[in-house]
Amino acid sequence: MKIICIGRNYINHAKELNNPIPDEPLIFLKPDSAFLAPGKPFFYPNFSKDIHYEGELVLKISRNGRHIEPRFAHKYFEEVSIGIDFTARDLQKKLKQKSWPWELAKGFDGAAALGQFIPKSALPITYSLRKNGKEVQMGNTQDMIFSFDAIIAYVSQFFTLKMGDLIFTGTPAGVGSIAIGDRFEGFIGEQQVLDLKIL
Ligand code: ZN
Repeated sequence: MKIICIGRNYINHAKELNNPIPDEPLIFLKPDSAFLAPGKPFFYPNFSKDIHYEGELVLKISRNGRHIEPRFAHKYFEEVSIGIDFTARDLQKKLKQKSWPWELAKGFDGAAALGQFIPKSALPITYSLRKNGKEVQMGNTQDMIFSFDAIIAYVSQFFTLKMGDLIFTGTPAGVGSIAIGDRFEGFIGEQQVLDLKIL
């Protein structure tokens, strides 16, 4: 299983980190060891002092495919969830300064936390992330720069998509630091799909 992530897919998040708006999807990968199953806690790693949460809609690929046309892309996923793309922001800054890849800052153990998958509903989908009971992020698929279909079409030109692969579709504004003891809850519409503790 591979974990494919899209960076800067919401204008308001690109702006909050002073990043330019991309004209092509920004893609990075996390190894399967980054997968954190629903209900499992996230353990704060000792190599960072500034881990951020990024709440994102995640697609689960349901059939194999490559060179998928946008108009057929919706046939390649049946379920969605909320994931947290944990990012060691201090490490990422250092790597960016050297123009090095982001893997260490984004692909460490537990850095791809997942909620429960639920059957996809009609677009647009709204979702939200709460930190310690307070809403910190709100997203709507209408505000994505690259739609689900555009992402699948683009990525499948480079990587064969396989059943079970996960695609993190980018985070809206409102990212921030985590601390030991925090609790995160993710909602698709009104339905809670993610409940995660930081230990
Ligand atoms: Zn992200």
